[in-house]
Amino acid sequence: MFGLLLFGAGTVWLGILMLKELVDTPPFDDPSRCPACRHDALLRVQREGIASAAPLLHCRHCNQAFWRWQGSLIRDTGRPLF
Ligand SMILES: [Zn+2]
Repeated sequence: MFGLLLFGAGTVWLGILMLKELVDTPPFDDPSRCPACRHDALLRVQREGIASAAPLLHCRHCNQAFWRWQGSLIRDTGRPLF
């Protein structure tokens, strides 16, 4: 349980860091290779009505979700997808 809390705090911290750097970062092309399973199966998740600064990519192969940030992918934890 404690480890889970630590992990959650780290995720929030990462998010804050990412938000700080967002302002003057130009957009990149979406990567298609999943960093978790190495399959070329990433798809951007479209969220209607939400202007997202950090696009969410979903892997069709291992079912993981990742936030794309400055050319890197950060795993999105605890989010139910499809
Ligand atoms: Zn994958």
